[in-house]
Amino acid sequence: MSPRIVVVGSSNTDMVVRLPRIPEAGETVLGGSFLRADGGKGANQAVAAARLGAEVTFVGRVGADELGERAVAGLRDEGIDVSHVSRDEKEPSGVALIFVDERGENAIAVAPGANAALSEDDVERAGGAIETADVLLLQLETPLPTVERAAAVAAAAGVTVILNPAPAQPLPDSLLYRVDVLTPNEGEARLLAALPGDDATREATAGRLLERGVRRIVVTLGAAGALVITRAGEEQLVEGFSVDAVDTTAAGDAFSGALAVALAEGPSLAEAVRFACAAGAVAATARGARPSLPRRERLELLLASGR
Ligand code: ADP
Repeated sequence: MSPRIVVVGSSNTDMVVRLPRIPEAGETVLGGSFLRADGGKGANQAVAAARLGAEVTFVGRVGADELGERAVAGLRDEGIDVSHVSRDEKEPSGVALIFVDERGENAIAVAPGANAALSEDDVERAGGAIETADVLLLQLETPLPTVERAAAVAAAAGVTVILNPAPAQPLPDSLLYRVDVLTPNEGEARLLAALPGDDATREATAGRLLERGVRRIVVTLGAAGALVITRAGEEQLVEGFSVDAVDTTAAGDAFSGALAVALAEGPSLAEAVRFACAAGAVAATARGARPSLPRRERLELLLASGR
């Protein structure tokens, strides 16, 4: 049977303008090219899990507008259950305006719109789906009380909770102790642990988060792979796969979505992290977010090659 995964999170439309340089305040820069793409960490991670063979339900909120319709259609086309995506009558769909210059540097402005209205009631309405899932996958692009409610519903039903703490913000212990696996990158881990600069070694940072209630932490390290640290005292570096990286956008989303699938399929965290590293690596080999999220066959090839 396919693993069942519920994602409670954000859906955005990315409006990307590539141009010679990023405009300063009050300035107009001509000569750009425009691309529109589906995005949002929640929706991206839902798609990542679906492409790897999971039965995915997405719980989110879009506006009653054309961007929202397109975003939902994009998820439906991936085979994702969108029956718990609500339409907000007041707020527009979430939008990210992204400038990318010739060197690949970017500047991003996000208007969360309906994502900011995803409520605890929305989570309650999806309670049946969450309670019968193998894994609940969360991020931080929707309101914290909503994220906390979802984690509480899952934890009470014994469902594994994965939290990708991005974008980083301080989190209460009441949330952290319901998290089975936390997947920060290094910057996010440091922010969450809130240790003074010199004391914030990888180990001290993870140790602080374990003290606060997280059971297992997987710190993603870009091309280097990921570091697994558990409350049981295990520590293991899972090496990254060597690939020709062209754009690491959504590597973290591919990683978290894949980790959810692998953990739902088998108990070994180290093996699940290896699978997730393969997904992140493949995502780094193609441009854009959604187009780069890998399918199962591609991952199996990379895993079998062992590189
Ligand atoms: P984020 O994008 O959230 O900051 P990372 O950059 O750490 O996260 O990437 C997430 C995962 O994707 C990494 O743990 C790694 O497994 C994989 N990955 C990212 N960049 C590369 C790369 N250049 N080469 C190989 N794997 C990569």
